[in-house]
Amino acid sequence: MSKFLSQRLLSLAPYVPGEQPQDKKYIKLNTNENPYPPCKGAFEIMNDTEAANLKLYSDPECKLLTKAASNHFGIKPENIIFGNGSDEILAFAFTAFCDKDTGAAFPNISYGFYKVFAELNCLDYTEIPLNEDFTINPENYYNAGKTIFIANPNAPTGIMLSVSDIENILKNNPDNVVVIDEAYVDFGGESCVPLINKYENLLVVQTFSKSRSLAGARLGFGIGCKELIDDLQRVRNSNNPYNINRLTQAMGAASITDFDYFKECTNKIISTRTYLTDELQKRNFAVLSSKTNFVFAKSSKTKGEDLYLKLKEKGILVRYFNKTIINDYLRITVGTDEEIKSLISAIDEIEV
Ligand SMILES: *Cc1c(COP(=O)(O)O)cnc(C)c1O
Repeated sequence: MSKFLSQRLLSLAPYVPGEQPQDKKYIKLNTNENPYPPCKGAFEIMNDTEAANLKLYSDPECKLLTKAASNHFGIKPENIIFGNGSDEILAFAFTAFCDKDTGAAFPNISYGFYKVFAELNCLDYTEIPLNEDFTINPENYYNAGKTIFIANPNAPTGIMLSVSDIENILKNNPDNVVVIDEAYVDFGGESCVPLINKYENLLVVQTFSKSRSLAGARLGFGIGCKELIDDLQRVRNSNNPYNINRLTQAMGAASITDFDYFKECTNKIISTRTYLTDELQKRNFAVLSSKTNFVFAKSSKTKGEDLYLKLKEKGILVRYFNKTIINDYLRITVGTDEEIKSLISAIDEIEV
């Protein structure tokens, strides 16, 4: 680092994304990308006219995209804001809703970015332990006195909290925002979006990266009551009002209107998830009950890191977390049936 780096960033540990190695072709089951391509409409956006239009700024209000999404969710345009990935919406929420003396609270095992955003904003934060079975105890979040961030379903466990449990958290934190990160909700979870007009402290965050196969386009959004969304718009407009590029806006609109393709892909992933879970259980893995496009599983024979490394040698990437409590678990993205069959054969070769 240079001598110019701000003091407040000296101890910051940045987020480490899953590896995207280029040395050979891997079966990539490590970053929860969708194995299926984006919808057809998204491909049609990439033409000469749209390329030529890149000379113009994108629409800072994302009007077409907002219209498509608000129709889809049955909400008003004032209830939604788009971000350059849902990570950006989370970043806006940390800036908008967390103060130095109050700070943030989130589970001790959850999306790694929450801690990074808290540190970047120099906030106090509390990491609330999961139960021993990796579930969240809602009561631990009552009257937290902090802005709460919960991934639901949680990552990397895949376990879902019921909407009524979340309602109890909302009711017991009337003076704090509760951010529900629904990055994985489309794989069989239950969304809190219908509650946004009932709870003024609820912000729901979703992404096009997982269920809509647009991770590389960078598109996410927040849904909440008008006042919360206005607060986030204030932050967005103080950062970068052109945060969503033209192509991504158009692709997002195409994707959200193609409900059939979305259902087809998410259903395929759900059925492959069942297959993967069954095959791992037959081999005596402990597999947590997943409502996401990944499973969190522990071999009874091989240490987490060993299995991760041996799979990598065989050209299969999964996610290993070097963190106590979960370091014997691997997070395995649900790929295509063929990819998952290759994974299972590789495990059989490793664990003879
Ligand atoms: C993938 C993920 C996100 C961020 O996705 P973006 O690509 O930035 O939209 C947010 N939260 C969780 C829990 C995730 O797993």
